Amino acid sequence: MCVACQTFLHGLIAKGLLIETGVDGLFGRSGAFEDVVSRIDQLITRFGEGDHAEVIRFPPGMSREMFERSGYMKGFPQLAGTIHSFEGNDRQHAELLERQARGEDWTALQKATDVVLTPAACYPLYPVVARRGVLPPSGGLFDLNSYCFRHEPSQDPARMQMFRMREYVRIGTPDEVTEFRSMWLQRAETFVGQLGVPFHLDVANDPFFGRTGKIMASSQRDQKLKFELLIPIESGESPTACLSFNYHQDHFGSTWDIKTSKGETAHTACVGFGMERITLALFKHHGFDVAAWPASVRGALWG
Ligand code: AMP
Ligand code: ZN
Repeated sequence: MCVACQTFLHGLIAKGLLIETGVDGLFGRSGAFEDVVSRIDQLITRFGEGDHAEVIRFPPGMSREMFERSGYMKGFPQLAGTIHSFEGNDRQHAELLERQARGEDWTALQKATDVVLTPAACYPLYPVVARRGVLPPSGGLFDLNSYCFRHEPSQDPARMQMFRMREYVRIGTPDEVTEFRSMWLQRAETFVGQLGVPFHLDVANDPFFGRTGKIMASSQRDQKLKFELLIPIESGESPTACLSFNYHQDHFGSTWDIKTSKGETAHTACVGFGMERITLALFKHHGFDVAAWPASVRGALWG
């Protein structure tokens, strides 16, 4: 880990903006931190409100069955988190407590529940849209926000295990969804411009697992299916992806059998805002004291 990340993280903790829990990537947030998060959320809403997206909020857990069908474990088994719970009898309960007291592994006495932690805000959406039947002629546009889990413990404050992702998701024809993505790529430049932080856009890939993952990542890059808006957060480290713009082609449409009103398999795209990362970028570039941030930035967020 770089010295600079440690300094930034230590600063955030010293100022009480992030609160340590004893686990890397798992933090409490102060009122000041949360105020910035909610102002960013409102600013995003102002950029998107003319589109009249349907607002849906899911809890941070989703159906394990739907998660399995989504194919997440093919691409990202290393990031997934599942929820396990105790379903045993009195004897097994006693054994569990004994194992805990001896400092041994007691979790093997739990069983997987029907719930897994949501890996990205849009994952619970597709089966819900599929259940509604054929899309309306204008397709679908959704506004989501969820805590997400990814098992990537790190001392980099911008790489959390539990973080919030605001998303707009477009479902429709290839033209509709690629146009949506281009529009958000443009809007995002204005959005981040108002926040007064340095940024650039670049082609990107997801961290697909293993050997076949390498092939998937390079094909995703070659086809420019993923773009990221990157902001330097750690000096000496490569800039951090704070917004993502994903074109899934017909991956979710065919997985969930979502059909356009013309009977074709729907394509999907999403724009994802990393709420903590954008907040951290603001603290990094404008300092820990929100009252001392540039007037233009304060105006954009609190105006
Ligand atoms: P992705 O699905 O990987 O494109 O993630 C969408 C957005 O979530 C990214 O652009 C990041 O801003 C944010 N994000 C992804 N992983 C993390 C993480 N470990 N900690 C904080 N934010 C994250
Ligand atoms: Zn998404």
